[in-house]
Amino acid sequence: MDKYKVLIGLEMHCEISETKTKVFSGAENSYKEQANSNIRPVDMAFPGTLPVVNKEAVRLSLMASMILNCTQPEYLYFERKNYYYPDLPKGFQITQETKPAPIGSYGSLTFECNGEEKTVRINNLHLEEDAASSDHFNEGSRIDYNRAGVPLLELVTEPDLRSADEAVAFLETMRSIYQYAGISEADSKKGQVRCDVNVSLMEKDKDETDPNNWGTKIEIKNVNSFGGVRDAINYEIERQLDLIEDGKYDEMPQQTRRWDEESGTTKFMRSKVDAIDYKYFVEPNIPKIKLSKEWLEEIRKQIPRLPNQRKKEYIDEYGISNYDATILVKEKNVSDFYEETIKLGADPKSASNWITTNLLGSLNKLDITMEEMTLTPAKLAELIELSSSNKISSKQAKEVFADILTSGKTPKEIVKEKGMEQMSDTEEIVRIANEVLDENPDVIEQYKKGRTNVVDYLTGQIMKKTRGTANPTIARSTMALEIEKR
Ligand code: ADP
Ligand code: MG
Repeated sequence: MDKYKVLIGLEMHCEISETKTKVFSGAENSYKEQANSNIRPVDMAFPGTLPVVNKEAVRLSLMASMILNCTQPEYLYFERKNYYYPDLPKGFQITQETKPAPIGSYGSLTFECNGEEKTVRINNLHLEEDAASSDHFNEGSRIDYNRAGVPLLELVTEPDLRSADEAVAFLETMRSIYQYAGISEADSKKGQVRCDVNVSLMEKDKDETDPNNWGTKIEIKNVNSFGGVRDAINYEIERQLDLIEDGKYDEMPQQTRRWDEESGTTKFMRSKVDAIDYKYFVEPNIPKIKLSKEWLEEIRKQIPRLPNQRKKEYIDEYGISNYDATILVKEKNVSDFYEETIKLGADPKSASNWITTNLLGSLNKLDITMEEMTLTPAKLAELIELSSSNKISSKQAKEVFADILTSGKTPKEIVKEKGMEQMSDTEEIVRIANEVLDENPDVIEQYKKGRTNVVDYLTGQIMKKTRGTANPTIARSTMALEIEKR
């Protein structure tokens, strides 16, 4: 590998999950329910049916286009990509090729990978419809058309990524942008995110701005998890290095392969000579739509605070470390939980500590999600208040925390139930301190002879009398004052 570097370009498909209906039909944008129950005639391209563009899908796509610093087109066009496959009942997919301009062209995204900033150029972003999904069984395959027509955003990067780590960091950043911007849940487990990964090698010392120096592009289709993307890239780098070693790299044809999860290898699908001619043409059933400057401006203003911005605020305004702030913004629901807790009056640093060190670790250990726990921002704020006002010790606070995570009770209820409430009533502590002093005249004598450490012993007596509920700091300072008066 010393002599070579790897060039990686990604095509990331992400379903837009946050529209009510599909991109060109009135069927619900959801395919959770029974197979083939969520289809309209237009999804199947029945004669006489016409597509209607979903405005919300366009709005969300334009927002993504702006976030990625892309140029937005003056007019919105769609095109037909013609091919036949059982999961494509129409015989064509409505999509956007680069001519005329898609919803986003020539942008960039800056993200962090292993502590370093990296910028990747975006070639284009386009809006299209998803195909149906097929399940394969021993006795044959079944197709569920519920997914046909779900809005899908495809993002194409330039081959600027240089390692599997960078590719995964890019995808994670995109996923969180989609979530924060309310565009998509971007959940790979639900099949909402799928990637085509392009990998080639080139000699390290050659000029990478000249495509003539790039190696032959290998495209790996339909990798549906980020772990799969990492493994597929690393496998492909090794496979291509072996070809170079055997002197066979230059003869390798440009080809499409697929990632085989089970064997952890990529398998040959087709070579470029067998490439399908999609016979693109402008979709005649959708008129070109003018995107007004006013609407674009309105959308730009609607872009919500994104993870990078939130992270910067946590660092600058709350004094949170870069490390902790990164953890807090990684998932939107964690960041929202954090902000809600602060809104309820909790100290930002304490709230960050509780979330990054206790909450996330506990969820991992218990193997439950944020949605499944019973802890709410209000309960965490209450716990922080009980602890910072010394009503309970920090050790007790941890005990209460473990309880409120899953029990449904409030911190105050637990403190009461367990008799944890610390006695911070100074008058009462003064009274008990004097009781202790009255009972120990000989100890007072020792104190007067200079053995000041007896204060610790006498403080211990206060703790004993209060069965550990006295606030230890207040008990000690009270004892130190009261013994002086004797
Ligand atoms: P095609 O016309 O075969 O679809 P594109 O030029 O559209 O190819 O590129 C598709 C993807 O492949 C893009 O993400 C691009 O960055 C990437 N890509 C192109 N050439 C290479 C290469 N030599 N090595 C790695 N990725 C590449
Ligand atoms: Mg392409």
